[in-house]
Amino acid sequence: MELLDGNKTSKEIKLEIAEVVSKRKADGKKIPHLAAVLVGSNGASMTYVGAKVKACEEVGFKSTLLQLEENISEQELISKIIGLNNDPDIDGYIVQLPLPKHIDEHKILLAIDPRKDVDGFHPENVGRMALNLPCFLPATPGGIIELLKRYKVQTESKHAVVIGRSHIVGLPMTILLQRNAYPGNCTVTLTHSKTKNLEAICAEAEIIIAALGRPEFVTAAMVKEGAVVVDVGITRVPDPSKKSGFRLAGDVKFDEVAPKCSFITPVPGGVGPMTIVSLLNNTLQAVQ
Ligand code: NAD
Repeated sequence: MELLDGNKTSKEIKLEIAEVVSKRKADGKKIPHLAAVLVGSNGASMTYVGAKVKACEEVGFKSTLLQLEENISEQELISKIIGLNNDPDIDGYIVQLPLPKHIDEHKILLAIDPRKDVDGFHPENVGRMALNLPCFLPATPGGIIELLKRYKVQTESKHAVVIGRSHIVGLPMTILLQRNAYPGNCTVTLTHSKTKNLEAICAEAEIIIAALGRPEFVTAAMVKEGAVVVDVGITRVPDPSKKSGFRLAGDVKFDEVAPKCSFITPVPGGVGPMTIVSLLNNTLQAVQ
């Protein structure tokens, strides 16, 4: 079993990006500038946005955090987004999800200029991804693809099972894995909460992407010997022994599944850090 080490790989990629940034600086070119919009004070969202801003600093990007009140109106938020679209210094930006219930996420995503949509959530970028045209890949699936590539994981002709059909992880993951590209060329099965016989379907898989958000859902009985398992799940599970009061749990029962795998991602330290570098790469692509 080999660990798909997102911490190590993301550090390597950050060094590569930092090098490109310092070369841009030396050549008098524009320094990439990423903005993050955070509405309200959801603990997990604040942690994620904080990590993204910190990563920008590490590679020499400029970053701006737009922290907005929980009760901001939809129209006010759209005005802020239009401001970012029109600001020539901002190369790309993200709107941290989820948004408060009174705001229509879809309307907000549509307001983002696709050329600055470094999260890759705008329908134009999703459509381009489906057609295998140049686009911003959504950060988490893009990070997983990069991790598979760096570890030279074989994907061609493999049966990949994706668990979860969210627009940010599961669905785009299926699109990327079926593409006529590397990594890709898989035969993909997309499964979700209404899927019957999920255990048996997973047990046939050579690659499993678990993105359902249920701690330790994937057990050894669901995994074939030699499978590649990518665990996207991050759930805060109460743990009084931790100072924070919680621990982060993946969707895979790591201890029993890992010995059966050819490759597996840990949680934390697998997909999470790759998601962040994917966002940095997209921002670099935006400025270039
Ligand atoms: P989501 O809640 O939007 O979607 C979950 C999906 O899982 C749904 O499509 C649902 O149909 C499916 N599902 C739920 N229960 C199921 C079951 N019993 N069997 C089969 N399918 C089932 O979640 P999401 O936004 O895609 O996130 C999934 C997990 O990944 C969460 O834990 C989230 O925190 C994590 N996540 C991690 C990163 C990262 O950077 N590591 C990024 C995004 C999401």
